[in-house]
This record gives sequence, structure tokens and C-alpha cells, in this order.
Amino acid sequence: MHPYIAMEIRRGVYKLRSKGCNVYLLRINNQKYLVDTGTPNNASLLLSQIKELDGIIITHAHFDHIGSVYGIQIKLNCPVFVHKDDLVYLVREKRFRFSGVLGKVASLGERVYKIGMPVDVKLIDELIEKSDENLEIIHTPGHTPGSICILYNRCLICGDLVRHSKKYHLIGKNEVKLSPKSFCSDYNAYLNSVRKILELDFDVILPGHGLPIYGKIGLESLVKALGR
Ligand SMILES: [Zn+2]
Ligand SMILES: [Zn+2]
Repeated sequence: MHPYIAMEIRRGVYKLRSKGCNVYLLRINNQKYLVDTGTPNNASLLLSQIKELDGIIITHAHFDHIGSVYGIQIKLNCPVFVHKDDLVYLVREKRFRFSGVLGKVASLGERVYKIGMPVDVKLIDELIEKSDENLEIIHTPGHTPGSICILYNRCLICGDLVRHSKKYHLIGKNEVKLSPKSFCSDYNAYLNSVRKILELDFDVILPGHGLPIYGKIGLESLVKALGR
């Protein structure tokens, strides 16, 4: 990892420069794990910042997160870890269905992008068994069936579960936004997952898109608005 390129957010948690989605790097003991890979045109940019990896963790198998898995695997020769409920999507035995106008755009994206087939796929349970007790993987289904959040050193990497609502950023409010319904495979399950993460102990949410969300106030008011 190039020290001048990666931004350290918390000890052992870095944000890399990327295309398509936010890509993070975790240093766990002496090992390095990439979280998500962006769109397929992102591999060379990531490879300019990292020279070795022990694995790639994907938060969920949407194309803007898995697009460069193959491109990185063939260069750095490491496994990709996925939740069992997103495995069929990662290896393209099944395709996601999206609804509405936004969904049509997403479906087109899935079809147009040429994504290489991952070569060394493992279930996320294998990673949990051998890793640090500081690392927690939380199953947060609904955006996709196998979406996960990763809790490490008080950072919650949440994939597409929530994101920062940029319009309030300039006036210092940490507002949090939901994922559009058309991108979710099961919206009720999704809302329950949003409620669930509020119970976790973290200082900052690192979303798959947009800025970090510091503190819990934004998420608290969002969950309050959702009701039970
Ligand atoms: Zn995304
Ligand atoms: Zn997504």
C-alpha cells in the first residue's frame, strides 16, 4: 500500500482511491483485506495502491462492488470472501432483479459491464474463523440477500445499507439516507437491517458510496422516522 495514497480513517482502516464504489483496506494482525472492488474499470487504479493482499471481502454482489474482483485476483492471487446468500450472484448462477426506472438503469449496468468470473471463492464464515476478535461480520439482508456489514476498530463498513445525505453536509448535519427501494431484493428485511445496525457499537459508518458518517445521531433519527 502506498503510504501517500491511502487515507487512514482509523487504526488499520484505510480508504483507497477507487471508481464505482468506495473501497477500503483493512489491516488485521499482519494481513491485508480489501473491502469491495468497484466497477470493472477499477482494477488498475487499485493495483497502483496495493501490492499484496490476503483476501477480498465483498459487502454484497452488486456489479459496482464486485466489478474488479477478477482483475485483482489474477494479479494478487488471493481469495474473495462472500456471504453464502450472495454466492449465486457472485458466480452468476443467478441475476439480481431490480424494479422501477432506477432498477432499469441498474439492470442495464449489470448486462453491459463485462465482469470476469471470480476464481477463488470462499464463504465469509471461513474468514471469521481465522481472524481477529476485533472483526465482526453482521448479516444485514435486504439490499441483497447476502449483504453484510463489517465492524472493525469501531468502524462500521456498511456496503449499500445507508449513505451520507450530502445536501446537509455543508451545514454540519450528519443526515443518513436509505438505499433506493428499487435496488433492494427485500425492502422489509432491508429496513429491519437498518434498525439492527443502530444497536452496534461504532464511531463512524463507512458507506459504499459517499462520505463517512460520524457518530450515531443521523442513524438514530432515521430509524426513529422509520418507526417499528
Ligand atoms: Zn453500490
Ligand atoms: Zn448495492
